[in-house]
Amino acid sequence: MASSSSSYNSPCAACKFLRRKCLPGCLFAPYFPPEEPQKFANVHKIFGASNVTKLLNELLPHQREDAVNSLAYEAEARVRDPVYGCVGAITFLQRQVQRLQKELDAANADLLRYACHDISSPPPPAFQPFAVSDGIYRQSSSSYSLPWADSSSEDINNGGGGGNL
Ligand SMILES: [Zn+2]
Repeated sequence: MASSSSSYNSPCAACKFLRRKCLPGCLFAPYFPPEEPQKFANVHKIFGASNVTKLLNELLPHQREDAVNSLAYEAEARVRDPVYGCVGAITFLQRQVQRLQKELDAANADLLRYACHDISSPPPPAFQPFAVSDGIYRQSSSSYSLPWADSSSEDINNGGGGGNL
C-alpha cells in the first residue's frame, strides 16, 4: 500500500474505485483525492460515474469543484436517507425556522407588553442588572431613555433607591 506522501503517484479515488489507470489530466483527479474514497463511492452510487463525467464536461473548470462538492453532499444525504435525501434535511431546517420564528414572534409580543403596560411580574432574568433600581420602570417614559442605551444611567443609579420619585 502506498504511503500518503506518494499520493502524487497513486490513482485518484475515482480511478481506483473503477479499477482503471489514472492518466495525467484525469477529469476526476482534482476533486476525488485518494484520501477520500467514500466521496467518490457515494457519488458513483447515487449519480453514476458517466453522468458525473458528462456533467463536469458541461461545466467551466472553475465551476467543477463546487459542482462536485454539492454532488457529494447530495449523494451522502441520499445514502444516509434513501427516502428523502437532502429534502429531509431541508424540511427539518424549514420546520426549525418556522418554530424559531414563532418563538421570536412570541418573545417580541412579550417585549411589547412589557414596554406598553405596567409590569406586575418581575422582568426576565436578562434584565436583572436593571431590576436592582426598580424605580426606573415606574418613572414616566419622558424622563429617561432605556437604561442599556443611556450613558447617563449612572445618574439614575446614584439617585438611588427610587426615593426621589
Ligand atoms: Zn483518476
